[in-house]
Amino acid sequence: MSADLTRRSAAELASAIASREVSAVEVTRAHLDRIGAVDPDVHAFLHVSDELALAQAAEVDRAFDAGEQSASPLAGVPLALKDIVVQKGVPTTAGSKILEGWLPPYDATITRKLLDAGIVILGKTNMDEFAMGSSTENSAYGPTRNPWDLSKIPGGSGGGSSAALAAFEAPLAIGTDTGGSIRQPASVTGTVGAKPTYGGVSRYGVIALASSLDQPGPCARTVLDTAMLHEVIAGHDPMDATSIPQPVPNVVAAVRRGQADGVAGMKIGVVKQLGGQGYQPGVLSSFRSAVEQLQAAGAEIVEVDCPHFEYGLAAYYLILPSECSSNLARFDAMRYGLRIGDDGTASAEQVMSLTRGAGFGAEVKRRIILGTYALSAGYYDAYYGSAQKVRTLIRQDFEKAYQQADVLISPASPTTAFGIGEKVDDPMAMYLNDLATIPGSLAGIPAMSVPSGIAADTGLPVGLQIMGPALGEERMYRVAAAFEAGYLAEHGTTVPQQIPALEGTAR
Ligand code: GLN
Repeated sequence: MSADLTRRSAAELASAIASREVSAVEVTRAHLDRIGAVDPDVHAFLHVSDELALAQAAEVDRAFDAGEQSASPLAGVPLALKDIVVQKGVPTTAGSKILEGWLPPYDATITRKLLDAGIVILGKTNMDEFAMGSSTENSAYGPTRNPWDLSKIPGGSGGGSSAALAAFEAPLAIGTDTGGSIRQPASVTGTVGAKPTYGGVSRYGVIALASSLDQPGPCARTVLDTAMLHEVIAGHDPMDATSIPQPVPNVVAAVRRGQADGVAGMKIGVVKQLGGQGYQPGVLSSFRSAVEQLQAAGAEIVEVDCPHFEYGLAAYYLILPSECSSNLARFDAMRYGLRIGDDGTASAEQVMSLTRGAGFGAEVKRRIILGTYALSAGYYDAYYGSAQKVRTLIRQDFEKAYQQADVLISPASPTTAFGIGEKVDDPMAMYLNDLATIPGSLAGIPAMSVPSGIAADTGLPVGLQIMGPALGEERMYRVAAAFEAGYLAEHGTTVPQQIPALEGTAR
C-alpha cells in the first residue's frame, strides 16, 4: 500500500486525496517511510521535516473532512524543497557550512505559495554549495547518489531534488536554475524539470547565486505534474524587483492540448550548435530518435543556426562569478550561521576572513576570486562588459531562431550521469556539462528537460531540452506533453517502477 502510494503521480495522489480514497497523512507517511528506507543510500535530503509535514498533511485532511474548499489542485501532495529556498524555522544551508545552524526568520514567496496550496513540504534537498556545480559533489554535506546507479552523480546543482523524484521519495520538487541546475539533473535522473522565463517565478527568499540568471522552477516525474506545480509557484511578486507583471501561464491547459492534439502543424527547430562535438554518442542517437518521433507526430523540423552559442559558456563563467562574488559578500560572519575566531580580541576583519576561509568550499572560493578579479577596476569592461555583449548576441540568435520555429530542441545535457569523483578535480570538465543549458539561461527564455529514453552506450537516462521564446511556456509545455505521450505510447514508461539499485532497500 505504502509503496504503491509513492509510485503514483502528483495528479493521481491529489485526486485520491480529494476523493478521500486516501488521507494526506497516509500519503505523507508513505513518502517519509520511503525516505527512511532509501535515503541512507541516495542522500537526497539534508533535512527531513517529519513532524511539520505530518501536521501540514493533517490540516489538509481536516479541511477536506470539514468540506472546506480545497486549497489547490495539489492539496495534500508531498514535495521536496531545494535547500536554497528558505522556509521559516527550518534549517537552510544552500549546501554550505557557512550557513550551518541558520534558521530563516521568514518564508520565501515560493514556500508561502506551496503552503497556501496545501502542498506538504517533506524537507530540504541536497545541492552543490550555493548552487555552483553540476553533480551535487560540491555540497559541504556529501554527495547525493543517482538512484539509477548509486556510483553515479544525480546532476547538479539540484541533484537532491531530482534524485528524490527518481527514487520515489517525493512526487514533486522545487529546483533553481541559473545555468542548468533544474534541467541537467532532470536529464540525468530521467525526470522532468522546467526553468520558467526569467522573472516568471519569484526569487524572494531564494538565496542568490547570480541575480540576473537565477530562476526557480518546478520538477516532477511527469509533464502534467510539472505544469500543475508551475501554476502554483508562478506569478508576479512585488517583493522581487525582476518579477514579471504577467498572469500565470496556462500550462496545465497547454499540457492537455499537447496530450490531445500533439504537435501537428508546429515548427520545431533543431539547434545546429547544440549536439555535435563533446556530446556522448548515446545521447545523440536518443536525440535523433526524439526528433524522428516529433516529425512522425506531424511537426515540421527545421534546422536553426545560433552562431553565438559557442561563446555562451565563456560568457556565463564571467557573468556568474562576477555576480556571485557580490552576492556572497553578505556571508560576513556577522549576520548568518557560522562565526569562527570571535574570541573577544579578534578584529571583525579577522573573524570574517577566518569564517569565510573555513565556511566556503573550494568551488565557491574559486568563483568569488574569479568574479572579484573580473569586476576590478580596469578589467570590468574587458570581462563583465564583453560577456554582457555576448549575452545580447545570444539573445538575438534566439530571436532569429524563433522567427523560423515555434520551439527549439536539443539534448539537455551532453552526457548521461557520470561517475562520482570522475570530474570533481577538473572544473573545466564540470563546466562543460552546461553547454546546452547555458544559452537559454543567458537569454532568460523558458526551457525544460523531459525524459527521452535510455542511452544505448551507458544504459542511463537522456533528457530532451525544449526551449520556448520568452513567456512562451504554453507552447513549450504543449510540445513536452505531446512528446511524453508519444514516448509513453511506444515505451510504456519513462521512469521504471522499480529502481534496480534500490531494490534491496525498497519497500
Ligand atoms: N552547473 C552550473 C554552474 O555550476 C549551473 C548552476 C545553476 O544553474 N545553479 O554554475
